[in-house]
Amino acid sequence: MRKHQFLVIGLGRFGTAVATTLYQLGHEVVAIDEHEENVQRVMNHVTHVAMLDATDERALSALGIQDFDVVIVAIGADVKANILTTVAAKSAGAKYVVSKAVDDMTRRVLEKVGADLVVRPEHDMGVRLARKLVRPHSFDD
Ligand code: ATP
Repeated sequence: MRKHQFLVIGLGRFGTAVATTLYQLGHEVVAIDEHEENVQRVMNHVTHVAMLDATDERALSALGIQDFDVVIVAIGADVKANILTTVAAKSAGAKYVVSKAVDDMTRRVLEKVGADLVVRPEHDMGVRLARKLVRPHSFDD
């Protein structure tokens, strides 16, 4: 299996789960957050960590963002930071950016500013669960 390089921005519950799982699966993962305690929490569970403000395009360029296969913008509550980070990542040359949206309006904005894929974890998981529950034999085990 080829090792892929991932940059995960924002280490809340979602970003932490994405970063640590990719690392456990054998990939290179750089995880960044603007708060030191979040960076320290995942330090031993990813390849590298960095503490920086991800809305800063120059900081993302200095990190070599264009070399990552996928950049995941896992900032939820702070919609402005999420949008600005997505724009900065694309402007700095990121090849493929996945952004997390908290609602449908944010999803539309993120698509407009250049996100290659937008996910809505709570919404998407709700849809998956509903489909799983009505699949035949759902309650058999
Ligand atoms: P969860 O993933 O836990 O559901 P969430 O999606 O609401 O939470 P937030 O708490 O909004 O996530 O943010 C996720 C992380 O992103 C936080 O740890 C926060 O410190 C980090 N973060 C927010 N803005 C920036 C930024 N400009 N640069 C770097 N990290 C940031």
